[in-house]
Amino acid sequence: MRALVLAGKEQFDLVDLQHTSPAENEVALRVAATAICRTDAKMWKSGHRDLVLPRIPGHEICGYIEEDPEKLYTIWPGSACGSCSACRNGRENLCPEMQIIGFHRDGGFAEILNVPESSLLKVPKGLKPSVATLAEPLACAIHGIKQSRTTGNDRVLVYGAGTLGILISLAAIDRGASVSLTDPNTAKLAQSAVFRARYGIKAEARITSGSFDVVFNAASPADTLACGIHRLAPGGRFCLFSGLGGTTEHPELIFHELHYRELELIGSYGCTMQDMRDALVLLNRYRNDIGFLVERELQIEEVPTMIGSILEGKRFRHVIVMHDSKTLTSSPFQRTRTQQK
Ligand SMILES: [Zn+2]
Ligand SMILES: [Zn+2]
Repeated sequence: MRALVLAGKEQFDLVDLQHTSPAENEVALRVAATAICRTDAKMWKSGHRDLVLPRIPGHEICGYIEEDPEKLYTIWPGSACGSCSACRNGRENLCPEMQIIGFHRDGGFAEILNVPESSLLKVPKGLKPSVATLAEPLACAIHGIKQSRTTGNDRVLVYGAGTLGILISLAAIDRGASVSLTDPNTAKLAQSAVFRARYGIKAEARITSGSFDVVFNAASPADTLACGIHRLAPGGRFCLFSGLGGTTEHPELIFHELHYRELELIGSYGCTMQDMRDALVLLNRYRNDIGFLVERELQIEEVPTMIGSILEGKRFRHVIVMHDSKTLTSSPFQRTRTQQK
């Protein structure tokens, strides 16, 4: 099987590997599509806390089992112990034993990968594989919505109009909240104009007024925290959805605001199996409106030359598409070995 192996910093090798048979309780999943997430690009550029090289990345995956190519699955990329207190309380994303596909074990930048059978989730009929890869990032967005207890009465502000900013907006709209989106990159904002108009999502390059009940940062600049805290109504919640790319100046001012106005600072990291189930319901509900989030479908050999551009954060999802399941029998995939820097 062809696979893209991250061998070192900024080094991808496209190789032909022998696929190892799945362990007990695992299945071999043939990849139909795997999205390239900004985290994958960051790993390629500078590594990651949970990454051991060499590794096949890819955690936003849609695939099928050889015997039944018509039935598509997506996967919850985690693998938790199932018995610690986090796992027992339905917070398996916080399991200390967590093993993540594409980080701790090989992922979906390959034609086949082995996954725990328990992590498979059926994709609703008719959903394109590239669109189905949005289930994982949407599940993370839904997780943030749950963590922040967003309801239909809330005025929500989202920093960042990238894929995650749009998916958080979608999950908030689905709860009946009113949503505003802000991003200094007006070209980026323009890319979601049709979607925003359809769901009444306001957008501005800079938000300097207004008051909100819940603020999310789907962008890493450190000032999103201080600015977002200022925009909160008394009793409001700030959901730290993205890690901050630096330290905020005068953090004591943020703590003063938390204290005097009874604000809450809430963390959100990854997603649970239930969030993935909820995400598939939403993907199906909004299937006609979210296709624009898949900006481009590409071949696996194109990844090494374009991965750097993902880092700029100016693009929606780029999705690697493998052999089309429906034409699999008529187009056996290549078995040539290629090395690419
Ligand atoms: Zn991701
Ligand atoms: Zn656990």
